[in-house]
Amino acid sequence: MTIYLDYQATTPLAPEAREAMLPWLGDQGFANPHSAHRMGRAAAAAVEVAREQIAALLPTGGRVVFTGSATEALNLALHRIGDVLAFATEHAAVLDCAEPVQRDGRHFEILPVSSAGCADLAGLEAARPTHAVCAMLVNNEIGTINPVAEIAAIAHGEGAILVCDAVQAFGKIEIPEGPDLIAISAHKIYGPKGIGALWVRDGLSLEPLIYGGGQEQGLRSGTLSPALCAGFGAAAALAAARIEEDALDVAALWDAARDVLARWTLNGSAEQRWKGNLNLRLDGLDVNRLMSECREIMFSAGSACASGSGRPSHVLRAIGLSDAEAKNSIRLGFGRYTDRVALIAACRQLDAAAREQGV
Ligand code: PLP
Repeated sequence: MTIYLDYQATTPLAPEAREAMLPWLGDQGFANPHSAHRMGRAAAAAVEVAREQIAALLPTGGRVVFTGSATEALNLALHRIGDVLAFATEHAAVLDCAEPVQRDGRHFEILPVSSAGCADLAGLEAARPTHAVCAMLVNNEIGTINPVAEIAAIAHGEGAILVCDAVQAFGKIEIPEGPDLIAISAHKIYGPKGIGALWVRDGLSLEPLIYGGGQEQGLRSGTLSPALCAGFGAAAALAAARIEEDALDVAALWDAARDVLARWTLNGSAEQRWKGNLNLRLDGLDVNRLMSECREIMFSAGSACASGSGRPSHVLRAIGLSDAEAKNSIRLGFGRYTDRVALIAACRQLDAAAREQGV
């Protein structure tokens, strides 16, 4: 039986989100939300409802700008912001901005993290940020949580702003006060793929990445998809209603999986974490062989974004693992729709397959 254990790569679409999308895909709801006629205004109203549903999970004092993805939101955030300091465990959507930032003549510096996988605050203080600091809230590869409010305080103390990648945290844990720009993505919270957003603190001015019709307050031109917005909004509203229940369910799944895989070593802090992420290693494990022998288990070797590249994960390297240890690691991700019994069976199968390898 197939089991999906790759919730950091993407999540299944919640039935509620799908339902919310359908009217905007039908023959009464297809209008351009930027049109002035009745059908256009109805579509625009749906977009605004979604914006409010999403804003309800974010700090006050800012606005939600829809984008095509969180990657786009982060690129928009960093594109004219001055010098950038980013922690070593940030997503490629941040780290790969180094090249264009440097091409602009701006400074891009990587900051250290602890072996537990959390931001090194002393390292940040010593680096004296001038313009922008990038810190993710929950790491996508190892699930660790950064002390974002403290990072914001240090950045603000130096007159810099904080750009927070909250993609893996939004709708799952409370977003702390402090960040000035926050990137989020619908498909990580049981919403549709193809839509993200950047929350922008009031008073902060950004330069667009995309020019055209001036949509999204001039920050992101291009016709919005009411269906994607409505799906994102419904997913956010559902996450808000279930935030505690979802966290408790995920913690119970974590305990069950950890129990079966007790002999495996956990990558990243056991405490400062989102428990829907279990990144584990076994010395000598051949992960490619494990994947080919456990084809019905949809899990990942390190980050889904990096897998297939053959490179060891930059996150696992940043927390001090050797190349070999990083390559001996797997990531199991579970969430709202994971069945506990199926998860336990999958973990048993993975452990048995590893033993077959003699590890
Ligand atoms: N940041 C983190 C932490 C992620 O996990 C991801 C997705 O893998 C992204 C950014 C990029 O999100 P999107 O797929 O919406 O571009």
